[in-house]
Amino acid sequence: SDGLLAGKRGLIMGVANDHSIAWGIATALAGQGAELAFTYQGDAFGRRVRPLAESVGANLVLPCDVEDVATVDAVFSELQTAWGSLDFVVHAVAFSDKAQLKGRYADTTRENFVRTMVISCFSFTEIAKRAAAMMPDGGSLLTLTYAGSTRVMPNYNVMGVAKAALEASVRYLAADYGPQGVRVNAISAGPVRTLAGAGITDARRMYNFHKTHAPLRRATTIEDVGGSALYLLSPLSAGVTGEVHFVDSGFHVVSMPKPEDMKA
Ligand code: NAD
Repeated sequence: SDGLLAGKRGLIMGVANDHSIAWGIATALAGQGAELAFTYQGDAFGRRVRPLAESVGANLVLPCDVEDVATVDAVFSELQTAWGSLDFVVHAVAFSDKAQLKGRYADTTRENFVRTMVISCFSFTEIAKRAAAMMPDGGSLLTLTYAGSTRVMPNYNVMGVAKAALEASVRYLAADYGPQGVRVNAISAGPVRTLAGAGITDARRMYNFHKTHAPLRRATTIEDVGGSALYLLSPLSAGVTGEVHFVDSGFHVVSMPKPEDMKA
């Protein structure tokens, strides 16, 4: 086939359903000729992911729960057998106890802090290591973050702390793997209505505030993220690594709303 990613093979982690950001990315990549493999977390998601994967011509659809590193190893050993090498990975995985995505960050428990960090931050490092080992000719790794990493968003709490660590890990991984031609970047997406997004208390208010105050005056879509992911995973961004790229209708550049928007 032809397209920007013709002949390239990549792994997509984090599709839960057709509203998932990872799904918006997968369709953009498949549309440019990429061959894809997918992971899913548990059988219930597996039943949803399999038909989606098949609709973009993928037949490698593998279980993976990043809390259990043996399942991560199994994924990469299957990819090694099936493909031998890899060109890109999309990591769109995050989790925190919903009961702590409200109220004060200060009340985060030690147990949920560690679990949030392992699933939402350290999993990217573990995956990057295994992926880079399969990228003798270079490659591109992409994760998903949110602006709650650098500025306080109500209720985002421990997830903001995990995203700050994730963004720092993007920079360190870019330095580690740059010499072998593996690029590492993040997309910082504006609020999107997904399963994970719905776990944040008052997510609808964040979403509506974003729509009325972002320069583009509209919500971020999974197609927006897909287009930017295509750039970051293709040779078009060959000189870009260690970057956190905002796909948020420009929300992050705004400080105070314009007077005519103050009522919103
Ligand atoms: P989603 O619910 O569709 O996807 C989250 C995925 O994480 C699911 O597929 C889930 O199975 C997976 N996951 C959670 N725990 C896991 C585990 N232990 N092992 C393996 N997989 C696990 O929601 P989404 O919004 O598409 O989230 C994708 C990424 O985008 C996340 O990193 C999220 O933080 C980030 N993000 C989301 C938004 C938003 O507003 N929705 C904004 C910026 C960044």
